[in-house]
Amino acid sequence: MNYSKQFCVKPGSEVDLGKVDAGFTDKHESHEHALPEIETYTQKLHDLQYLMYAEDKRSLLICLQGRDAAGKDGTINHVLGAMNPQGCAVTGFKVPSKEEAAHDFLWRYHQHTPAKGQVAIFNRSHYEDVLVVRVHDLVPKAVWSRRYAQINDFEKTLVDNGTHILKFYLHIDPHEQLARFRQRIDDPARHWKISDGDYAERPFWDAYTEAFEDALSKTSTEHAPWFVIPSNHKWFRNLAISRIVAETLESLGMKFPEPTVDIDQIKQKYHAIVEQEGGGDAQPVKEHK
Ligand code: AMP
Ligand code: MG
Repeated sequence: MNYSKQFCVKPGSEVDLGKVDAGFTDKHESHEHALPEIETYTQKLHDLQYLMYAEDKRSLLICLQGRDAAGKDGTINHVLGAMNPQGCAVTGFKVPSKEEAAHDFLWRYHQHTPAKGQVAIFNRSHYEDVLVVRVHDLVPKAVWSRRYAQINDFEKTLVDNGTHILKFYLHIDPHEQLARFRQRIDDPARHWKISDGDYAERPFWDAYTEAFEDALSKTSTEHAPWFVIPSNHKWFRNLAISRIVAETLESLGMKFPEPTVDIDQIKQKYHAIVEQEGGGDAQPVKEHK
């Protein structure tokens, strides 16, 4: 089965995260075993993003959500590593500034949605406004409970304008989160990642589970689906997300734009220069598929 189907939250279904195995690795028994497949999808991602950039007709928005230490940064590193930085942008969303908080909750996100030909990755997203905000009662229930429908409408607007949206929930279990907190303590190069906030949020594990389940159930739509990614194994998380992004881009049937010049005429001009000046013996380049 393709991963876009396997890990997708079916629109209208109720998500129970307790039933999802965070340690799932499909048919792969180890990272080494999965390496050829990881390489295949990394290459595909590279080629497809190049095509999206060249085509300049549509865009892709990737939203990453997950608990602290779920691997949002690591995913960005991997997925973006496969792409040309010229066609990509990453935006991280923290506690809203005074100016952001003075606007409607979607205002700060809309400004960072991708232009045609571009990929945008959101490290946290408009979903924080029904997650941390709900768990900590930062606005009344009457306000956050309206936001699911507002988010669906917002995303529909983007989709109607040629943006494809993929939303990933990085699913780790409490044991794995603690192991990652431990790694951060043991490795001085990770000390900078430790925040009091991580420890402050852990006692709210169950409240977050409920908030995530509600968000996943209410906002996975045909036009902007959610995927629950088993993320205890970083390499499997990377593989699954790369594969879903590649499968989605592949399904769009993108094409290189027609050249804006007459190629035969250009060839003649080129050969005329070579005849006059010599040279022109460059190696043939690898063709993009
Ligand atoms: P990090 O991603 O680890 O740098 O942390 C960013 C922090 O900002 C997290 O604790 C988020 O929960 C918090 N945050 C992000 N968006 C919002 C929001 N809309 N309202 C309140 N807190 C937020
Ligand atoms: Mg953090």
